[in-house]
Amino acid sequence: MHHFKQKKSELYCEGVPLSRIAKAVGTPVYVYSHATLSHHYRIFDEAFAAVPHIICYSMKANSNGSVIRSFTNLGSGVDIVSGGELMRALAAGAPPKKIVYSGVGKQPWEIEEALKRDILMFNVESREELEAIDAVAAKMKKRAPISIRINPDVDPKTHPYVSTGLKKNKFGIRIEQAIKDYEWAAKRKHIEVVGVDCHIGSQLTEVSPFIDAAARVRLLVEKLIKKGMDIRYVDVGGGLGITYNDELPPEPKVYADAIIKSFSGLDITLILEPGRVMVGNAGVLVTQVRYTKEIPSPHGKGSKHFFIVDAGMNDLARPSLYGSYHAIVPVGKAPRGKVEADVVGPICESGDFLAKDRTLPAFKSGDCIAAMSAGAYGFSMSSNYNSRPRSAEVMVSGARYEIVRERETLKELVRGEKTATFLRKKGAK
Ligand SMILES: *Cc1c(COP(=O)(O)O)cnc(C)c1O
Repeated sequence: MHHFKQKKSELYCEGVPLSRIAKAVGTPVYVYSHATLSHHYRIFDEAFAAVPHIICYSMKANSNGSVIRSFTNLGSGVDIVSGGELMRALAAGAPPKKIVYSGVGKQPWEIEEALKRDILMFNVESREELEAIDAVAAKMKKRAPISIRINPDVDPKTHPYVSTGLKKNKFGIRIEQAIKDYEWAAKRKHIEVVGVDCHIGSQLTEVSPFIDAAARVRLLVEKLIKKGMDIRYVDVGGGLGITYNDELPPEPKVYADAIIKSFSGLDITLILEPGRVMVGNAGVLVTQVRYTKEIPSPHGKGSKHFFIVDAGMNDLARPSLYGSYHAIVPVGKAPRGKVEADVVGPICESGDFLAKDRTLPAFKSGDCIAAMSAGAYGFSMSSNYNSRPRSAEVMVSGARYEIVRERETLKELVRGEKTATFLRKKGAK
């Protein structure tokens, strides 16, 4: 469900035509629908209404402050993976007691910041990390609340780059080892065991891997409780997929019912870390066709078109990185006729494309198009490759829109950069 709709040959975000935003703010520009963000949070929250739960929005999917605040205003917590994300989450109104900290490479300064703020818990991914947290907490004379992230060895049946719960992945600790680590942790004065954590991957389109993982987590939870540990939280991670093209991921309710059932009878609070499902379909990337090119079709008959747009793989990396699909939709009136085409960016790499081998309207230079479902892992993965300023971000609510992040300036591109003194010409600074 989302609020991007074609009305009278104009693509609207809620009550605002995207062409108006493109004209006023320029392109490329990310546009988010506030109504869609709120709707997604509510649907997800209601799906778990029957049990104690905390939704911790996984902000690496989209870390814009206004996006995070759209959720925290509704009571959401946040799942963070760095000290930078901690700073952003707090600035966007996340209550520390609803912040969980995931990730395999937490640094001492990051652990210290999180302890200072009294976050809900650390999701620990190795014995050495556990030891590091213990050491930092001891220095601060604090007790660090922890869960261990289990690697349940289930196949999420998704893209290998976003599979995280297979035993060959760098994530989590296998269950037999985790039991030993829990026993060690339970004896430490500066560690407080509070939960069990798991996250098996992203863009899952079936419920069964979630159920398989949950069953293994449940067994562990029961074992730990038997050993006298006070397991209060079970964090099942994120990973629920969305529709980019023709995928049919489970509805949040179906997913929630399966999770709830998996942990029924246990006296625990569920923690959910949805990312993509909250923001993916709530955002689009609007870009303008700058040039068009036509070559003889590599498949023989006819010709192939290139629509060269002003957004590149630095703005939206997913197609290059995972070969992912984003629907391409005209922002204004669709030109007549269809052609075989690639939508490509200005970057000097052949992997720089937003769409490949599509049948698309015969766009002309000057036309604006939208890459749909770009709200998750879009701007948050963008870079300055080819010295391109990162794009602006806009949020729409009803009939109004506001810039929620200005387009980067050229000056910002070289902030902090210095010419080495031994390279400077005499007399120059
Ligand atoms: C990325 C991530 C998530 C969110 O995944 P989605 O597929 O976007 O829902 C949740 N938890 C952890 C630990 C993650 O790394």
